[in-house]
Amino acid sequence: MKYTWILFDADNTLFDFTHSQKNALRYTFKEFGLEYHNDLFPIFTQLNNKIWQAFDENKITHDEIKTERFRFLFNELNIQNIDLDKFNIRFIDNLVEYSKLIDDTEQFLLSLAGKVKMAIITNGMKEVQRPRFNKCKIKNIFDGVFISGEMGLSKPNKEYFESVHKQTGDLDKSEYLVVGDNIIADVRGGKEYGFETCWYNPSLLENGQREFTDFEIQNINQLKKIIE
Ligand SMILES: [Mg+2]
Repeated sequence: MKYTWILFDADNTLFDFTHSQKNALRYTFKEFGLEYHNDLFPIFTQLNNKIWQAFDENKITHDEIKTERFRFLFNELNIQNIDLDKFNIRFIDNLVEYSKLIDDTEQFLLSLAGKVKMAIITNGMKEVQRPRFNKCKIKNIFDGVFISGEMGLSKPNKEYFESVHKQTGDLDKSEYLVVGDNIIADVRGGKEYGFETCWYNPSLLENGQREFTDFEIQNINQLKKIIE
């Protein structure tokens, strides 16, 4: 194997986070007696992306994300008198409940088990990520799980990658490959730290960060050629 460590992003790289979010939103709306329709999801996604971007830029904290995303959503929908903390707790439970790996991922990772060390590097909340990984059938194949919400550090910051590097044996940086769907947090962050990077780009988005991208794949199986 060309690398000793493969560092995988979780959401929308290994896990189908869009599926989890869609279902979590739908069922949490139901639980609170609110009418759900399909147009809601794009509105939520747009607000949520903006909020996570603000987090990536260190403008807001993890704790603020939890309630602010729903405050914005309910404002937008003109819905009043919802307890945001309670709504968030149920939403997080439902995210865990409807968690799902992307097709082919389980089989591919199992085929690498024992051949290369694998870790998860994620900017998620510990309340979502820990139970989700614990519930995941392939949790035992990971040699490390690095959750920003537990570390107080997040991608794309150098300190996050430095901490992961130290906790994975501090090997030569060329021994590491970062795989992720976020061109800034995963690819640019990983490359700026000195690791090699692979952009998981199933939707064929345009790459505005080419100088930071060593490889690009549309399907996890394409990783095989890159790492062997
Ligand atoms: Mg991701």
